[in-house]
Amino acid sequence: MTWLKAIRDPRRDPAACTFPIEYVLMMALIMLCGQLGSRRALARQLGLGRIGSNLWRLVGKAYGDLGCHPDTMNRAMEVLDPAELEKLMVAVVYQLRKTRALDTFRFDGKLIVAVDGTKMFTFKKVHCEHCTHQTKDGKTTYFHCVLAAKIVTPIGLIIPLAFEFIENPPAPYDKQDCELKAWRRLYDKIRRLFPRLPINVVGDGLYAEEQTFATADQAGWNFVITLTDDKLPSVTAQLPPKSASWSGHRTERVHLPDGGKTHRWIDRTVRWKTPVHYHGQIYHVIELEETDEKGNRLYYNRWITNVKPTFHNAFELAQTGRLRWKIENEGTNTQKNGGYEMGHAYGRKGNAWKNYYYMLQLAQMLNDLVRLGDYIKKATADPTASFTAVFAAMETFAMMLIAHLRETEPDFDLLPGSGRFQIRLGFP
Ligand SMILES: [Zn+2]
Repeated sequence: MTWLKAIRDPRRDPAACTFPIEYVLMMALIMLCGQLGSRRALARQLGLGRIGSNLWRLVGKAYGDLGCHPDTMNRAMEVLDPAELEKLMVAVVYQLRKTRALDTFRFDGKLIVAVDGTKMFTFKKVHCEHCTHQTKDGKTTYFHCVLAAKIVTPIGLIIPLAFEFIENPPAPYDKQDCELKAWRRLYDKIRRLFPRLPINVVGDGLYAEEQTFATADQAGWNFVITLTDDKLPSVTAQLPPKSASWSGHRTERVHLPDGGKTHRWIDRTVRWKTPVHYHGQIYHVIELEETDEKGNRLYYNRWITNVKPTFHNAFELAQTGRLRWKIENEGTNTQKNGGYEMGHAYGRKGNAWKNYYYMLQLAQMLNDLVRLGDYIKKATADPTASFTAVFAAMETFAMMLIAHLRETEPDFDLLPGSGRFQIRLGFP
């Protein structure tokens, strides 16, 4: 709450506003955590019960039933500087690091940060002067895309780190903005917001290029970037044709739960070639393959990295590169299809859509901290309780969260983060 109060109120005369900025932001957060899907659905819920007064209690004031109209929230979101919410995300990351909650998810002592571009909105007509556009068969489509850097973990918890919107400068411009250009800006932003954060940066084949490698080296970051056959031909040419003559390899037999009650065995093999030379620098290539008992290939990928693979780190190094898909799967897909309705414009004017996007990142993280932390066990005083056993799915949790705020007066002192509950995360 202190964090929300620290946000600079963009409205002309904040003191004259009935609803302080922390109330407005809490309202947006509840809408997104509760997966309400639209401002209209929020308005409906606000008309029904105690959500308005519970919001006042959440921000530490007792103004009774006076509820804020979602349009008022939206107007504040239109003028709020998104940089204010970036500060909020920085505070969250520092807090999580301070409590050492993320320590078990590091590789080589560094957190794993995946970088990925995503299309947020597509329009048939131009939406604003910053839209990027593409013309195909005489038809022009307009987009807003975002480049996201998120901390990824094997358990599926995703922590928002920093973002850069892919958008054109005011006309006239020579070339449109693009993912790689946004990546240069995002790199600078991460260095500025988190100057001492050591990371492993993981990304798809787009990032297999000289400048990404050089800047990662400069920052003291590790990189593990997908290497496709066609991307860096001079590197691929240095790879031995037969797997047996690579610099090293290692195979382990792994027991995987197969969804239901059955289990299966797979063979997991890593191979590495070290060194490979690229633009006068020394890097390494590692690949990972999984096959079933019959020898059918289940998974294959190859990465270029500045971490020297050894017999001891090879599996972990390859799995680090592999974590990249989490940003697509558990990050973006969940936000588009998992009830958070990212494609739905909660508000398209001014800064609103950027601010809702940032709040959405925080909402998903908060919900996932409940899903993956030990809050449910503590709240039910049952050490065997699990999120799945209690709520079955996130959609149910979101619905019950809203119902709870509508029908009851919860004891907010018992919320995670108030000191009584610690978020402990770990492998299940
Ligand atoms: Zn636009």
